[in-house]
Amino acid sequence: MTPIRELSQEVTEQIAAGEVVESPLSVVKELVENSLDAGATKVEVRIENGGLDEVRVFDNGYGLEKEEVPLAFRRHATSKLDSLETLIQDLHTLGFRGEALPSIATVSRVIFTSRKPAKLVGSIFHIEAGEIISHEETGCPPGTEVIVRDLFFNTPARKKFAQSRSREASRIAQLITGIAFSHPEVSFTLYHGKKTIFKSSGDGNLQNLIIEAYSREVAQSMVTVSTARSASEGELSLKGMISAPYLTRSSRRYQTMLVNRRLVYSPLLSQALERAYYGLLKKGRFPVAVLYLQVPPAFVDVNIHPAKSEVRFQNPKEVNQLVFYGAKESLQRCSTAYYFQEENRSSPSYYTFKGSSNLSENSPSFSSPNFPMEARSMDKTTNYGTSSLQNSTGEKDKAEKEVQQKITDSSLELVTRVDRNIVPSEKGAFQIIGQYLASYLVAEKNGDLVLIDQHAAHERVIYEKLRQEHSLHSISRVQLAVPLTLELPSSWADNFSTLLPWLEEGGFHLELFGRNTYVVREIPAFLMEFFEEQFFWDLLEEMLFSERYDHEELMDLFKAFACKSAVKAHQKLSLEEMEELINKWQLTSNSGYCPHGRPVAVTFGKEQLQRGFQRRGGGSNNEGKPRSKKE
Ligand code: ADP
Ligand code: MG
Repeated sequence: MTPIRELSQEVTEQIAAGEVVESPLSVVKELVENSLDAGATKVEVRIENGGLDEVRVFDNGYGLEKEEVPLAFRRHATSKLDSLETLIQDLHTLGFRGEALPSIATVSRVIFTSRKPAKLVGSIFHIEAGEIISHEETGCPPGTEVIVRDLFFNTPARKKFAQSRSREASRIAQLITGIAFSHPEVSFTLYHGKKTIFKSSGDGNLQNLIIEAYSREVAQSMVTVSTARSASEGELSLKGMISAPYLTRSSRRYQTMLVNRRLVYSPLLSQALERAYYGLLKKGRFPVAVLYLQVPPAFVDVNIHPAKSEVRFQNPKEVNQLVFYGAKESLQRCSTAYYFQEENRSSPSYYTFKGSSNLSENSPSFSSPNFPMEARSMDKTTNYGTSSLQNSTGEKDKAEKEVQQKITDSSLELVTRVDRNIVPSEKGAFQIIGQYLASYLVAEKNGDLVLIDQHAAHERVIYEKLRQEHSLHSISRVQLAVPLTLELPSSWADNFSTLLPWLEEGGFHLELFGRNTYVVREIPAFLMEFFEEQFFWDLLEEMLFSERYDHEELMDLFKAFACKSAVKAHQKLSLEEMEELINKWQLTSNSGYCPHGRPVAVTFGKEQLQRGFQRRGGGSNNEGKPRSKKE
C-alpha cells in the first residue's frame, strides 16, 4: 500500500487548471471572453493543429498596463469583481473567477502582449508551466494578443486531444459562431492554420451574420421573431430569426439560443421552438434558429461552468409560451406562399431563369426588417375575398367548362386553360387560370403567377381538418354498412389490443369477435369514400410494428389518411373543383406546406417574370412596354 502523502503544489495546480482548461476549446473560450470583457470590437482567433500546438487570440480592447500583467496571471486575481454582491446582481462580464490565465499558463507556454491604447508602448510577458520567463516593454498595436503554445505539454491530457484535432477545430468553429451571435456588433475571424474558417463583419445585422455563419440560402429562408409578454417577475422578450419549414437541418446544431445575451444550451427553448413547427417538419429534421431571450436577471439561473452553460428559468411555463407563440406567429406570417427564388439551391428549386441572378437585386435588402416571404406572403384577412370572385364569375362557369373540356381533350396541351382574360384580380383573391400537367393549379394573385400543387394543397386541407376534429375530440364517424372482419395473424394477436385506444381516438371502432378476430364497425367519416381494406391492413401493420402509439404517431396516421384521400397528381379537375380546393386551402392554417413539409405553392413575382422576359420590372404603367424602341 502506498503511504498517504501530500500532493506537490505543481500537481495541485495542474488538477485545478484542468477544471478550467479542459480542452483547446475552453482555452479559446476563456481568451475570447476576456477580449470581449476588455471591450474589443475586433477579435481574431488563430489555431494550429486543432488548437493543441497554438491558440492565438488578438483583440483591440482596453489592454493592460505593464505592471498589471503579472497580476493577471496570479490565481484569483481579477479586475472584474469587487464584492459578492456585484457578482450576484450584475454578471455583465463573462469571466469573473480570475482563474483562466493562471490555469492556462500552468499547462502551456504563454506569450501575453498588451498595450493600452493611450500608451505608446506595451509589454510582452512570457510564462511557461506557471513560471515567469521574461517581461519587457515592447512596441505593439493597441489591445492584447495572447499566444498559448504546446497546450498540455506537461500533462497526460495532451495525448487525449492529439487524436481529435479536427473534431476540436470544428467545436471551436461552432463556439466562435455562437459567440458571434451573442455579439453581432463585434467582428470575429477564425483561422485554422492558413484556412479562414469564419469571418463576421460585426455590423450588428443579424441577417448578415446568418449569411456569414451559415449561408445566403439559409438567411433567405429566415423569418423574424419578435414578441414580448409580461410575467409577474417582469417583462420577457424574444427576438431573432427562425427558418421557414422548408429549410431544416438534421440536428439542433444550427439552433443558437441566447439568454440575456449569454449563449446557453437549453432543451426547453428548443422544444418550445419545435412545437411551433408541429405538423410542418419531417421526423428527425430541425429548424435553424437564432433566438435572443431577454428576461429579468432574477428570472434566470445560468450555470456558468466553462464547458456548458445550462440555464434554468424560474417560470419555465412563461418562457415556453413566449417562444412557442412567438415562433408560431412568425411561421404563420410566412406560411402561405413559398416564393420562387432565382438560383436558390437549398430550397426546392423548380426552375432557373437565365440572366438575372443577383440576389441583392432580386430580393429586398437584408438590412430591411422584412424578408421577401413575409413581405409578400398572402395575408389571411385578404384571402377571404375569393368567394366574391366565385359569384361574379358564376355565370360564365358553364361556358368555361365547355372550353376547358375541349382543351383538356387535346393531349398536346400541357396547360388546361380556363378561357379567361387574365387581368389582375381583386386584391388578395386568386383567379384561376387553369391546370398544368393535370397536377398544378395555375392562378393569378395580386399580379403574381402562382402554381399550387393540388395534391399537397388538398393533403393540407384534410390534415388540418383531422387535426382540428381530433383536438375537439369529435372525429365524425360513420357506421360501415357491412362491417369488416379482421382475422389477425397469430403473431399480431398479442399486441393488437394496445392499438385499440389509439384506433378509437382516430375514429375507428373495433370489437373483439372471437379469439383472433375483430370486426370494424365504425370508421372516420372522411375516410368513407376512400376506405380500402388493404390500406387499413397496411396501416395496422405499420402501427403495430413501429410500436409507437403516441400523439405524434396518431398525427402520422392522419398524414397518411390525408395523403391517401387527397386528390392525386395527374387528375384533371373542373373549374368548380379547382375553385373549391383553392377556397378551402386558403382558409386552412399552415397552408404553405403539405403535412410532409413540402411547399404547396410556388409564386412567380410579376417583376421576376418580367425580368425573365428582359422587360423592365416595376411600375404597372409601363407593363408590357419594351425596354427600348429598337426592340
Ligand atoms: P477573469 O477573466 O476571471 O478576471 P482571467 O484569468 O481570465 O480572469 O483574467 C485575469 C485578468 O486579466 C482579467 O480580470 C483582466 O483584467 C485581465 N485580462 C485578461 N485578458 C485580457 C484582455 N484580452 N484584455 C485586457 N485585459 C485582460
Ligand atoms: Mg477570464
